[in-house]
Amino acid sequence: MTKDEILKALSFVLEPDLKKDVVSLNLVSNIGIDGDKVTFDLKVQNNALHNKKRIEEACIFHIQNKVLRAAQVQVSIDALPKEDEAAVQKEKTFKNIDKVIAIASGKGGVGKSTITANLAAGLAKKGFKVGLIDADIYGPSIPMMFDVMNEKPGVQNIDGESKMLPVENYGVKIISIGFFSAPDQAIVWRGPMASKALTQMFNDVEWGELDYLFIDLPPGTGDIHLTIVQSVPLTGAVVVSTPQPVALADARKGIAMFKMPNINIPILGLVENMSYFSPPELSGNKYYIFGEKGVSRLAEENGLQLLGEIPIIESIREAGDVGRPAVLQNNTAQSKAFDALCDTITKI
Ligand code: ADP
Repeated sequence: MTKDEILKALSFVLEPDLKKDVVSLNLVSNIGIDGDKVTFDLKVQNNALHNKKRIEEACIFHIQNKVLRAAQVQVSIDALPKEDEAAVQKEKTFKNIDKVIAIASGKGGVGKSTITANLAAGLAKKGFKVGLIDADIYGPSIPMMFDVMNEKPGVQNIDGESKMLPVENYGVKIISIGFFSAPDQAIVWRGPMASKALTQMFNDVEWGELDYLFIDLPPGTGDIHLTIVQSVPLTGAVVVSTPQPVALADARKGIAMFKMPNINIPILGLVENMSYFSPPELSGNKYYIFGEKGVSRLAEENGLQLLGEIPIIESIREAGDVGRPAVLQNNTAQSKAFDALCDTITKI
């Protein structure tokens, strides 16, 4: 018998509460082999006797069946420590999601939500399975941008746990902190209250299978960002900025935040929004209202990729306000700009 054979056999044992095999959940440790005798430690979420018995029987069954019929198996079963439980919970919620991408900005009002909405709707249009978490506690605008202001997530009992079902429009599954208050009600999400609501939004949602989950972060860099990035297994972050110096200065802080050793999230690249304006009657002319190439220089300085440049177009704002992201239009300058950005995202 070898350690690899034992692990292979144990990969058929499901953790009954977490519904995933004990090997990929990293619950098996200290495997010892001595002749026909195998010993190992196993962590379980529910440490009740009947549960321990059941999982022990499954381990013995698979080792004897797949490795050695005469194997004497001794399992020492223990409860998962609390902090590991949080990690496993995270693993469970996000297990069917391929890429989780946070969209950040240093400064408010630079178009972070607009970019997020168009990325999500644009990738859904291309046939990807897409989810979106609007975590902007200071001004959740995703419900308006997707015309789902008056909807609420459903609730379903799944395997004994109560899960939220996202609201859906344009093929995008959406959960927004805005769903937890009336649209015209002022809610000041304070530290602990915001953390609690956000943790729930991250842990208690049934997403199903997704290719992309986007997270519209609050602007800036603060404690709430730490809560978020620690609650979610992020693939990477995209930083949005306009090209003017005040926005760039804050974008720099955003980049520095993701690079901090205790956060250490890969930055997938930068997006320049409101790059230039071209009047319809002079569509060949570009006016660099907020300055030229500011974000591309910032990208270069930091060795990052510039993922896209989105011009200022009235209809991008209108599309946001009427609740149908501009990327869904047919062959307009704005839909082409967002389509190109979506294509770039699929290539990283
Ligand atoms: P943030 O999420 O950074 O606060 P928003 O996405 O809410 O910013 O954008 C702020 C405002 O600017 C919104 O009214 C939005 O419609 C508008 N806007 C964003 N990007 C553009 C653009 N490229 N052209 C025109 N209007 C834009």
